[in-house]
Amino acid sequence: MQLIDGKALAGKVQSNVASEVEALKKEKNIVPGLAVILIGDDPASHAYVKMKAKACENVGFYSITHNMPDSISQEEIIATIEMMNNNPRIDGILVQLPLPAHVDTDKILEVIDPKKDVDGFHAYNVGRLVTNLDAFVACTPLGVMKMFEEYNIDLKGQDVCVVGASNIVGKPMASLLLNAEATVTITHIHTKDLKSHTSKADIVVVGVGVPGLIKADMIKEGAIVIDIGINRIADGSLVGDVDFKNVSPKCSYITPVPGGVGPMTIAMLLSNTLKSAKARV
Ligand code: NAD
Repeated sequence: MQLIDGKALAGKVQSNVASEVEALKKEKNIVPGLAVILIGDDPASHAYVKMKAKACENVGFYSITHNMPDSISQEEIIATIEMMNNNPRIDGILVQLPLPAHVDTDKILEVIDPKKDVDGFHAYNVGRLVTNLDAFVACTPLGVMKMFEEYNIDLKGQDVCVVGASNIVGKPMASLLLNAEATVTITHIHTKDLKSHTSKADIVVVGVGVPGLIKADMIKEGAIVIDIGINRIADGSLVGDVDFKNVSPKCSYITPVPGGVGPMTIAMLLSNTLKSAKARV
């Protein structure tokens, strides 16, 4: 069994981004800029945004956070996004999810200029991903693809089971895998017999938010298991969606939680923002 070290790979991606930022500054006087819109006071959202801001600083980006109260109106959020759409110093706009219940998330995401949609959630980018055109792709699944590349895992013709079908994790993950010519099965909460799908797969990618959902008898010998789940359990520790202790001995490769997919998400956000800055006209 080999661990896929997301922390190390994320560090490598970030230092490549940092060198490219330096070159971009020198050659074109461009400093990539990221705007984050953070609404309410959910501690997890605040922690993620803090990590993102720190990562921006580390690679030499310009970054701003618009911190708004829970009571903010949808119109005010839209006005802020439009301001960022028109701000030439901003290459990427990220709206930290989840949004308060009175805000229409789909509507908000559609307001972001697709060229600054570094989270890859806008329908324009989702459509381009599905048709295998160049697009901004959601950072978490993009990070998983980077892991496959780094560990020379060939996806062509492999049976891959994606567990979880959200717009931000499972669906873009499945599209990327399909584009890489894997045979993809997508499962979700209403799947009748999850084990019948996971146990046949060469690769299982799981992102559902249920600690320990994937057990040893659901995985075939030698499979590759990618755990996207991040769950804080009663004792305060972070665990994934895979019963790591019992599943890992059966795997050829597996990602740990923490230190697996998590760090890759921020690394790919930086990479997407750099890509946007390089496309400035
Ligand atoms: P979500 O709630 O939007 O979607 C969950 C998906 O899992 C749904 O498609 C649902 O049908 C499916 N599901 C739920 N219970 C299931 C079950 N028992 N069996 C099969 N399918 C089931 O969640 P999300 O935003 O996609 O996040 C999923 C997990 O990934 C969470 O733990 C989240 O914290 C984590 N996550 C991690 C990162 C990262 O950077 N590593 C990024 C985003 C999300």
